[in-house]
Amino acid sequence: MAEPRAKNFIYEQIDADLAAGRHSTVVTRFPPEPNGYLHIGHAKSICLNHGIAAAYNGRFHLRFDDTNPSKEETRYVDSIQEDLRWLGADWGDNLFFASDYFEQLHDWAVHLIREGRAFVCDLSGDEIRAHRGTLTTPGRESPFRDRTVEENLDLFRRMRAGEFGNGEKVLRARIDMAHPNLNMRDPVLYRILHAKHHRTGDAWCIYPMYDFAHGQSDAIEGITHSICTLEFEDHRPLYDWFIENLPVPHRPRQIEFARLNLTHTVMSKRKLLRLVNEGHVDGWDDPRMPTISGLRRRGYTPEAIREFCERVGVAKRNNTISLALLEFCLRQDLEGCAPRRMAVLDPLKVLITNFPDAAETYKGPNHPADPAMGDRKVPLTREIYIEREDFMEEPPKKFFRLAPGREVRLRYACYITCTDVVKDADGRIAELRATFDPESRGGSTPDNRKVKGTIHWVSATENVPFEARLYETLFTTEDPDDVTDDGSFLDNLNPDSLRTITAYGEPALRDARPGEPVQFERKGYFVLDVDSTVERPVFHRSVTLRDSWAKQAKSGA
Ligand code: ATP
Ligand code: MG
Repeated sequence: MAEPRAKNFIYEQIDADLAAGRHSTVVTRFPPEPNGYLHIGHAKSICLNHGIAAAYNGRFHLRFDDTNPSKEETRYVDSIQEDLRWLGADWGDNLFFASDYFEQLHDWAVHLIREGRAFVCDLSGDEIRAHRGTLTTPGRESPFRDRTVEENLDLFRRMRAGEFGNGEKVLRARIDMAHPNLNMRDPVLYRILHAKHHRTGDAWCIYPMYDFAHGQSDAIEGITHSICTLEFEDHRPLYDWFIENLPVPHRPRQIEFARLNLTHTVMSKRKLLRLVNEGHVDGWDDPRMPTISGLRRRGYTPEAIREFCERVGVAKRNNTISLALLEFCLRQDLEGCAPRRMAVLDPLKVLITNFPDAAETYKGPNHPADPAMGDRKVPLTREIYIEREDFMEEPPKKFFRLAPGREVRLRYACYITCTDVVKDADGRIAELRATFDPESRGGSTPDNRKVKGTIHWVSATENVPFEARLYETLFTTEDPDDVTDDGSFLDNLNPDSLRTITAYGEPALRDARPGEPVQFERKGYFVLDVDSTVERPVFHRSVTLRDSWAKQAKSGA
């Protein structure tokens, strides 16, 4: 992964820390919870953390924040590593699990009890919430707050030994129930959860809360800058409180930045999981999903995603980025590396009445910057398919494609003139008849005759039929998220987000390989799906060719 082009406010803080001699090296981490697949928001965090480590010649850690056994699974651990590798974020030997620190975290909890800074509380979750107070009113102290150190040590030992049921007791920090920051009002450090952990199995039945595990894991690993999203800003006093009150080997600094939001999609793992579980999409890697695996399957490249993250930048204020920018980055990357091919998505048959019986082959359209890229021959036959939208019986003024009596160029092949329109019983255009000019073969221009329109085509008899999956946004609205979290975001699902059609491509499509981008001229960038069979290739449209981002940027939208 290359160094970022623009240095942001986080770099300024790191520079200041280094100048002040607080650290001699820079260590960052990406700390996913293995409870779902990574999405494009995570990619931003990965690019940021990995980019910083690279820029300062420091270290980048991948640490699984696996403190909640009820939602975590090994398959998520695997998919997350696959996604990071694919993105180009190399963690070397620095793969860690918060669960590896359970013993140390437990010892530090005992340390807090000994110092009179933690206590075992018998209040239920609801009671703790009710005692917590509000932003304007102080909380109430737990009746269990003044247990003796001995009693707390004994109860915590018995919690660990499995003597109590889920939720019967928790360990809480003893800070200040009147603190203006709610996170400081005696927060829960440990809860009882009789659940099998994906790595520690049944060894534990008490698990540390995120806040207690996170900063201490940073400290254990020698993380210098613990970069997280803005919603943790209010947790920073607690993060620092633990570091100050525990004998940790190292003092990390938490820095917050704005999370990435994208139009026309949702980004919370919980909501993505609902889309998967309720069958609104076809799995985590459905090409409509904002997940890394979905984008990869859709035909996104690591380069395009990294470029996107770079352009989005790092800010202190939350905002929402247009999906069009993501598409722009993909288009820009594929432009240079996707070989050109021809495919017809909505076929209209044309019989070229004066064409010989045997096929002729022509050089197909190549990449404009590199004619050798994707070089091959394309067969032209008496019967061809053109795009239905490239013909109009009564063309308006600016329509320069095929019409009765009109001549167009078949891309890289020859000129044809439409002579007849054949209709079916319902009056629908069933087929066209045309003649070709033999002098125009192979793209030459007889008597310098210019034609205004050039259209793509495939042979109707020598082609590769395939399934084309054409996508629109997954949601119809720019901001489908429901703030109230009542599930109403599902009302905004786009019923037309996937359209599956049978299309026809030139024979060279037989050589397509999964994951390798191609441009179907005038129709977009496509990629062969991993689930394709020889009988039925499946191509996803990664992105159309029209650049709505440039238009938006110009109009200042
Ligand atoms: P979600 O809210 O989607 O469930 P999460 O924050 O719970 O995500 P984690 O696995 O805890 O998921 O996230 C790992 C890291 O990725 C965290 O440091 C988190 O701040 C960061 N992250 C998550 N979502 C975004 C986002 N939209 N933009 C930038 N960073 C993000
Ligand atoms: Mg999280």
